[in-house]
Amino acid sequence: LEVIIRTAPEVARAIVKELRDQRRNIKLIASENYSSLATQFAMANLFTDKYAEGYPGHRFYAGCDNVDEVESLACEEAKALFGAQHAYVQPHSGADANLVAFWAVLQWKVQAPALEKLGKKNLYDLSKEEWEALRKELGNQRLLGLDYYSGGHLTHGYRYNVSAQMFEAYSYGVNPETGLLDYDEIARLAREIRPLILLAGYSAYPRKIDFARLREIADEVGAVLMVDMAHFAGLVAGGVFEGPYNPVPHAHIVTSTTHKTLRGPRGGIVLCVKELAEFVDKGCPMVLGGPLPHVIAAKAVALREARSPAFREYAHKIVENAQALAAFLQEEGITVATGGTDNHLMLIDVRPFGITGRQAEAAVRECGITLNRNALPYDPNGPWYTSGLRIGTPAVTTLGMGREEMREIARIFKLILTHVSPEVKDGSPSKARYHLDPGAKEEARSRVEALLSRFPLYPRLDLAFLE
Ligand code: PLP
Repeated sequence: LEVIIRTAPEVARAIVKELRDQRRNIKLIASENYSSLATQFAMANLFTDKYAEGYPGHRFYAGCDNVDEVESLACEEAKALFGAQHAYVQPHSGADANLVAFWAVLQWKVQAPALEKLGKKNLYDLSKEEWEALRKELGNQRLLGLDYYSGGHLTHGYRYNVSAQMFEAYSYGVNPETGLLDYDEIARLAREIRPLILLAGYSAYPRKIDFARLREIADEVGAVLMVDMAHFAGLVAGGVFEGPYNPVPHAHIVTSTTHKTLRGPRGGIVLCVKELAEFVDKGCPMVLGGPLPHVIAAKAVALREARSPAFREYAHKIVENAQALAAFLQEEGITVATGGTDNHLMLIDVRPFGITGRQAEAAVRECGITLNRNALPYDPNGPWYTSGLRIGTPAVTTLGMGREEMREIARIFKLILTHVSPEVKDGSPSKARYHLDPGAKEEARSRVEALLSRFPLYPRLDLAFLE
């Protein structure tokens, strides 16, 4: 930091302010965590200066020996951790990992067979007409993924996302009554649509998924099974999701972020079967720009950490905490979607308190709890105001919190939610503005502070000299 101060003191100060902010607020954002200092320092070095298009041993630039070493190590760590046949660690983010996977599947299932049929080895051997015909075929493929409004991610074929421009995109939703995936309905849709890719995975679904069953469905209709485990990769790594609930042995291709439950640097990875490896490895430069070797170094560190017994324990603790929190919230009279959780997250319905998710999100943040509002399935308040909050336990579990702290957090939620009301103007309640009782706010804040004082973030970092 002293080095940064010499050039851009405002940046150094913002970093310290962020640390202070994260120390003062309970982080319940389901997609965030606290990476280790080893992971963070692995990112902050001269690897950032290297160009390394290609992959280990096959680069478009000279001088990549050390990047090769680190990238090969990260791939080996990922393969060992997840038991995958092949790993690709270059995607800059989860969205990029999905693009790499989509393009790889299109090459594997559409482009390569078309070239073979024409007796051509490379794309540049095609005539203009042949390329135009192939391009058309590539653009005619179908994707079937979890609907955005049922907890799917934007990149899973949401109408306005690039994924829906690459494919003819279709979606399946959760059952409106139960809030759960309905495998018979997915099978029915798959038979009707016959997608090239059946895509599973979520940003806001609180239950485990039977990937063995999804693979059966994919096989029946001749689809590739792709799983985006961005949210629950840490639970797979830590052995929480096993057998049919572990996507890696069942899917042809698995994508993930590295920064959520997996607790690594911000980034993405792709795991796949051997047959897909050559296509996935073309992610850069066909889909991505140059890889970020400093982030790949940090991925290697975090993946190594995730192979430790301590991480296994951590992953199980995340779910224990989530289940405890869901139970305590319900004891406090708060509605938890699907009645609980199997993973690291839950969705609560704030409508019984007469407010929107947006108001609830802002009110709890005022009291020192950071989380995000989230649409419930088929939410009448839409994706902006929403009727729900998404609550996740990966970060508080990293801090060391347990069952008793979950009970206290549930009580703090109750205190806040029963003291928020919408502002009313001309007889109609606002969906954004609200009133929070000052006494309740003060009490909630001091209880949050009391909780956090027992679980300091990076306790060895004292940066007070900057303030
Ligand atoms: N896939 C899923 C299921 C996600 O939840 C997210 C992010 O929230 C992503 C992909 C995108 O990850 P990133 O923000 O790293 O691009």
